[in-house]
Amino acid sequence: MTLKNYDIAELRRLDVAHHLPCHQDHKLMQDLGGARIITRAQGSTIFDGEGTPLLDGMAGLWCVQVGYGREELAKVAYDQMLELAYYNTFFKTASPPTVLLATKISQLMGGNLSHVFFNNSGSEAVDTIIRLARYYWQLKGQPERNVLIARNNAYHGSTIAGASLGGMSHMHAQGGPFVPGIEHVMQPYQFNEGFGEDPEAFCQRAVDAIESKILEVGPEKVAAVIGEPIQGAGGVIIPPEGYWPKVEALCRKYGCLLAVDEVICGYGRLGQWFGFHHYGIKPDLVSMAKGLSSGYLPISAVGVADFIVEALRSVSDDFVHGFTYSGHPTAAAVALKNIEIIEREGLVERTRTDTGPYLAKGLAELAKHPLVGEARSVGLIGAVEIVAEKGTNKRFGGKEGPAGLIVRDLCIKHGLMVRAVRDSIVFSPPLVITHAEIDQLVGTIRKALDEALPALKEIKAAA
Ligand SMILES: *Cc1c(COP(=O)(O)O)cnc(C)c1O
Repeated sequence: MTLKNYDIAELRRLDVAHHLPCHQDHKLMQDLGGARIITRAQGSTIFDGEGTPLLDGMAGLWCVQVGYGREELAKVAYDQMLELAYYNTFFKTASPPTVLLATKISQLMGGNLSHVFFNNSGSEAVDTIIRLARYYWQLKGQPERNVLIARNNAYHGSTIAGASLGGMSHMHAQGGPFVPGIEHVMQPYQFNEGFGEDPEAFCQRAVDAIESKILEVGPEKVAAVIGEPIQGAGGVIIPPEGYWPKVEALCRKYGCLLAVDEVICGYGRLGQWFGFHHYGIKPDLVSMAKGLSSGYLPISAVGVADFIVEALRSVSDDFVHGFTYSGHPTAAAVALKNIEIIEREGLVERTRTDTGPYLAKGLAELAKHPLVGEARSVGLIGAVEIVAEKGTNKRFGGKEGPAGLIVRDLCIKHGLMVRAVRDSIVFSPPLVITHAEIDQLVGTIRKALDEALPALKEIKAAA
């Protein structure tokens, strides 16, 4: 592997001068003198401009399922670009990789999800769900069914529609007004919103919140209920046992569509191809992105149930929706090869039967740490809740925020890239992660917690 000889100091200067990074405090980035420049990656490890390795506990941004440096993926992109770099699907045309990928995805989803609509990002996939769900009800002669019900603290992307559908209060605080016809209900986050409550009772309360909202809006006005099987960016919120089948039953009871946002959970993250397989439900619309191409190229898709396709085919009219790069041949070819690698290396099964349980075992040990309120995971996605008082969900300084950032920074200092969501440390490593690397992930969080204690005690004292 040849290392390009970058001038890192100059890149950092140019970063401040010209580049605005995502979801970032731009004053802080300026004060820091620019971003940390990541120059290369291999397997589950990323390297910065100084050559410092970091175990990538986030798989990039929840997406690099097959790990970095896959020559096969580069090769398939190279070959496809030479053969047919790009063509669209607007002109009654399609390319071979596009058609083959749609076929493959529908086979992986199973059931009545035989069709796929392509987009380029998770946010666009979510936009497609909103437009398609509403249009479906127009076709069915029920145009008043246009309300979508989502959960508080959900993440559905950062376009105006994605941010509207998501339930992130800090996002709603900026750049409104937002897309109308969207309602939010409580999230199934037992650690924060039902601490000590009987799990079954908590589950029922979270389900009842959706039913109450359906009744409040009027069942004849609800187009769809949407949720991430496990809320990722919201802090790896794992719903209680039975939640999803009950939500599915509600959708059937009131005749509204069930949409799942699989942008993180899809492609093996939970030890099944999709989160809805893990939870044993049958959604009508399924958004996916991230792991679909392991992030090697941008691509997203929406799985669409047969009865919705039948409705589209019941009229001689365009569904006037789509993107220049929908079904991009090169991105589709890379996604197909990525799925082939996941299958060939048995990464979904390995996550379910080997690495997922191994991570869970490590977290069960870590859960005994005096600063840990809960350590939870499904497959290869998890979170560690930091608390001020063992056995409670009390936070340092009386509110969530500072503890997570302190521990996250120490993790990064010790060579582990993870994310802090409020006072939890979240992780979602590549599905190729080894046992030794899982030991490193859990061990580094433990070390960071130990080292954070003096700083955390100061926050507590100040509160
Ligand atoms: C990341 C994410 C999105 C948005 O995807 P982008 O590709 O960033 O637009 C949507 N939904 C979920 C659940 C996500 O995690």
